[in-house]
Amino acid sequence: MKIIKEGRKQAGYSIEQTCTGSNNGGGGCGAVLLVEAADLYITQSHARDESTDYVTFQCSACGVLTDIKKPTPAAWAAAHKNGLHPAVHNRPDLTGQEPRP
Ligand SMILES: [Zn+2]
Repeated sequence: MKIIKEGRKQAGYSIEQTCTGSNNGGGGCGAVLLVEAADLYITQSHARDESTDYVTFQCSACGVLTDIKKPTPAAWAAAHKNGLHPAVHNRPDLTGQEPRP
């Protein structure tokens, strides 16, 4: 969207992250990004009966996903609010298993 008129500054969550593809097969472009609450998603890996959640962002330059290494509570809250990443609901690449239905 386009901003027609600037609103007030939000003090919301933001963190500087480098696009590395960490925990997502690598291949990040190395861009340094200001990642904000709206950019965070949950992704999951499944192994047997356990599923693990990750806080993940998608690089706006190259589209590669990167996991945030030690998400703060604010990052977890933002990611849960946004829900599962629309393109990647789970990640068989981490377990070698097929995605669950
Ligand atoms: Zn990138």
